Amino acid sequence: MKNRIVFATGNQNKMKEIRMILADLGMEILSMKEAGVDIDVVEDGKTFEENAMIKVCEIAKYLPNDIVLADDSGLEIDYLNKEPGIYSARYAGVDTSYDIKNNLLLSRLEGVPDEKRTARFVCAVAAAFPDGGTEVVRGTIEGRIGYEIKGNNGFGYDPIFFVPEYNCTTAEMEPELKNELSHRGRALRSMREIMEKKYENINC
Ligand code: IMP
Repeated sequence: MKNRIVFATGNQNKMKEIRMILADLGMEILSMKEAGVDIDVVEDGKTFEENAMIKVCEIAKYLPNDIVLADDSGLEIDYLNKEPGIYSARYAGVDTSYDIKNNLLLSRLEGVPDEKRTARFVCAVAAAFPDGGTEVVRGTIEGRIGYEIKGNNGFGYDPIFFVPEYNCTTAEMEPELKNELSHRGRALRSMREIMEKKYENINC
């Protein structure tokens, strides 16, 4: 099939993960910039799903012949009433380093015992198809907030997101393992299933 997939993000780390996860679709995968679109969309929804849909519908106006995907993701910490949630990228200021953001979250959880440090990464992936149809799916990964910054892989809050089953943070995982388990990997694989049903001659 001739369709291209354009992923509406400027985040190179996300693009790397997305290319790995969707590689076997055999379709061209472009970032928004590579597709020649460079606009900022105001994400003023109240949920991850709403924000992903707002983004994808806006970008699709510029790319009517492509499959456009967009995600909205973040970290929910139960002890902090699911903060930073949909504000994860903006938490403590957009330009604040993740070293500072992560240390701030660790300090807000000082003295909080293991069983109350539960958290999850959430990712909503929305798609807009050339036929005008849209879809949105959600993926999550459950874990706990660690006690210190650990690991150099991944990005954002990975160094404080501890996955008990693997006894390490997502920043200590090999990229392949993180993609297999992660919120984004799960959401993208659900979306891939939807696309496979929609386009029968997709090469999987
Ligand atoms: P978005 O670009 O609006 O989806 O913002 C997502 C923000 O949530 C990122 O900037 C990170 O702060 C955080 N986040 C989302 N996914 C991950 C992940 O896989 N690892 C670490 N942080 C993440």
